Amino acid sequence: MIRSTKQRALIREVFEQADRPLSPQDVIAAVADSEQNLGIATVYRTLKMLREQGYLVAVELPGQPTFYERAEHEHHHHFQCDQCGIILDVPGCANVQRLSRNLEGCEIDRHEIWLFGRCADCCEAPPAEA
Ligand SMILES: [Zn+2]
Ligand SMILES: [Zn+2]
Repeated sequence: MIRSTKQRALIREVFEQADRPLSPQDVIAAVADSEQNLGIATVYRTLKMLREQGYLVAVELPGQPTFYERAEHEHHHHFQCDQCGIILDVPGCANVQRLSRNLEGCEIDRHEIWLFGRCADCCEAPPAEA
């Protein structure tokens, strides 16, 4: 019990420091730096628990592993790099009001916007050999 509380605190700490959504693999890599070793099963279980507790929300794209970010976050959107798969936060919003005028008779309650392309690192580096 004490152990799982400690693991949860450790993983929360990782998300406090994070400036982008994290995959379970990202979490394992971040925790490995702190000389703690968490197994993948523990990480998945803890992420699920933190999501149920409302601390984390899932950032999901069809056919891709689920990323997570803190729930208490201002409204924002996401960018995914087609080359390395990293997901970055995009602060701000688009003019959804204007777009919704193209939809007659509907009320818009929420929206999702994804941007895709190549991240700054991948723009700098030459494409990896396939
Ligand atoms: Zn990239
Ligand atoms: Zn928005």
